Amino acid sequence: MALLKYIARQSDVMVRLSKIPLSTPMNKHTFLRAYPPQLPSHGPAMCFVFRGHDLLVMPQSERGRIPLLEDLPAHLQPIDPLFLGTVDGADCVAAEIGDDVEIPETLTFIGLRSLFGEVSEQEFMLAGYASQILYWKSTSKFCPVCGHVTEAGNRDWGRHCPQCGHTGYPRVSPAVLILVYDDDGRILLASKPGWGDRHSILAGFVEPGETLEECVARETLEEVSLTVTDFAYDGSQSWPFPHQLMVGFTCRYVAGDIRLDEDELNHAAWYTPDVLPPLPPPVSLSRQMIDRWLAALRRKHDNP
Ligand SMILES: [Zn+2]
Repeated sequence: MALLKYIARQSDVMVRLSKIPLSTPMNKHTFLRAYPPQLPSHGPAMCFVFRGHDLLVMPQSERGRIPLLEDLPAHLQPIDPLFLGTVDGADCVAAEIGDDVEIPETLTFIGLRSLFGEVSEQEFMLAGYASQILYWKSTSKFCPVCGHVTEAGNRDWGRHCPQCGHTGYPRVSPAVLILVYDDDGRILLASKPGWGDRHSILAGFVEPGETLEECVARETLEEVSLTVTDFAYDGSQSWPFPHQLMVGFTCRYVAGDIRLDEDELNHAAWYTPDVLPPLPPPVSLSRQMIDRWLAALRRKHDNP
């Protein structure tokens, strides 16, 4: 009895938590998440319609790039959209359409990565969320243990197997971004095959059984043979390609000479702020971390 009460209370807490507004600095409007079996109202709805990784947008619209339900012709109206939640009371839904569906001239498809700078940060966040939930929908129809058809969860995106009891949830894969600096005011930047001249900070996926800090130390040692210390959290970013959560850390160089893992990197070097290579786009957490580090260094220089 006590256990049942405890579980009921936990589930209550989860429902209340899900109603807490998402109010990071990037979100000017309040997004309230919804979960199955909640359904959208019949009011205006922002529609995130995907064809594979491409999102349907209105390139010419002055109101915004993301179409509302009323902007879609009858044959594009989603029959069974996924209800993501509401922004300032307006519904947000996600749906997929097939390759053979005809698109009117007022609409076009754009790759999720190309949305950077084209839509607001909140719209990009919502598009990324929609793509991850649609990806989950398309990959969770059958139980990975016994192959039986799964059923929708209650108050979450989980998919439950009535045959063997397995429940799966949308995947989120944590990865660390690692800004390594030294005591001489230099930053370590690296380039991967295919990046051209562009350089960024190090990155790597978290392994099972590993803390974020252990991952930072391991990846730095594996990729450039350096040891580091003074780990400090420096922000996070959902990265929907397809389901990463990027977690940023700064750390201070301790010892070692740069030796590349040539399967991962084709160049890495120490840089001073006055001579930097081309950097990642401003929307990425890696670039934001580099900019914050540069600003902090400048402040230190101006106020020694
Ligand atoms: Zn099963």
